[in-house]
Amino acid sequence: MSFKNITVAGAGVLGSQIAYQIALSGFNVTVYNHHIDTAEKRINALKADYQRDLNLTDQEFQAGLDNITTITTDLPEAVKDADYVIEALPESLELKEKFYAELSQAAPAKTIFASNSSSFIPSQLVKFVDRPAKFLHMHFANKIWRFNVAEIMGTEQTDPAVYQEVVDFAREIKMVPIEVHKEQHGYVLNAVLMPLLASAMQLWANDVSDPQTIDKDWMISTNSPMGPFMILDMVGLRTPYQMELNAYQTTKDEIHQTIAQKLKAMIDAGHVGQESGQGFYHY
Ligand code: NAD
Repeated sequence: MSFKNITVAGAGVLGSQIAYQIALSGFNVTVYNHHIDTAEKRINALKADYQRDLNLTDQEFQAGLDNITTITTDLPEAVKDADYVIEALPESLELKEKFYAELSQAAPAKTIFASNSSSFIPSQLVKFVDRPAKFLHMHFANKIWRFNVAEIMGTEQTDPAVYQEVVDFAREIKMVPIEVHKEQHGYVLNAVLMPLLASAMQLWANDVSDPQTIDKDWMISTNSPMGPFMILDMVGLRTPYQMELNAYQTTKDEIHQTIAQKLKAMIDAGHVGQESGQGFYHY
C-alpha cells in the first residue's frame, strides 16, 4: 500500500463517505471535523447503505469503523503523522484558504494534500499551500461506494510521482481512477453532464417538450437507463436551481431566469427530487 495514515478533513456528506470507504479498505483513518458528534453520526449512518448495497455483515461494517482511530477538532493532532490528507470542507474559497494555511504549518513535510472540491480547479487552491508539488485534487461522486470513480487532477506544479501515487491509492480504496490531464472546471463527468442537463431544461422551459418525453427520446436513442430529468431528480433540484440563478446573473439571458423560476416552484412545493419522493417523477 502506498499510504498508511490518511486524514480526512470535513466529515459532511462527502467527507464521511470518503473516511469510511478508506477505513474499510484497511487504512488507518483520522477524521478532522468541527463537531465530533455529527461526524460520528454521519459515519455510523452509512451502515444501512453499505449493508444494502455491498452486503456487509455487522462485523465487516464494524471492522471499517475500527480503522477510524481518531475523530478530532484539533488540526495539528489530526495530521501529525498523515501520509495523505483529503480535504472535504465546505465549498468556500475563504474557508479553504484558511484551512490550507493552517494545514501547511501543521503537517509534516511528507504529507500529500488533496482537495475534493467540485467547483474550484487546483490552481485556485494551490497558492494556499506550502508544497505545490504535493497538491492535487481527488474528486469523488456522492455515494462513493456505488458510484466509485475518483477524478484526479493536478496543476502544472504537481509532481508526476505524487500524481501516480494518488492514482494507485484510488485503486486501493476500490475507486476507478479517472486521470484528468489538464485543469478543467467540472473535471470530466460534470464537463459532459452539465451541458446535457442545461439543454434538457431549456427545452422544457421553452415548451419544446415535456420532461418525460425528453427523457424517453434520450433513453431510447442512446440506450441509456436514465434521461436528463431522472438525473436531475437524483442530484436534487437545489443545485441546478442555484446554477441557473448564477447563470442568469452572469449572462442576463432570460432562459436561465425562466428555468430558475420553474425549479423554484417545484422546490417551494417540496418536490426537490428523489430525496423528497417527488421531483419530475414520483418515487
Ligand atoms: P458538507 O457541508 O456536507 O460538509 C462539510 C463538513 O465540514 C461539515 O461536517 C462541517 O461541520 C465541517 N466543517 C465546516 N467548516 C469546518 C472547519 N473550518 N474545520 C473543520 N470542519 C469544518 O459538504 P459536502 O457536501 O460534503 O462537500 C464538501 C466538499 O466536497 C466540497 O468541496 C464539495 O464541493 C465537495 N463535493 C461534494 C459533493 C456532494 O455531492 N455533496 C460531491 C463531490 C464533491
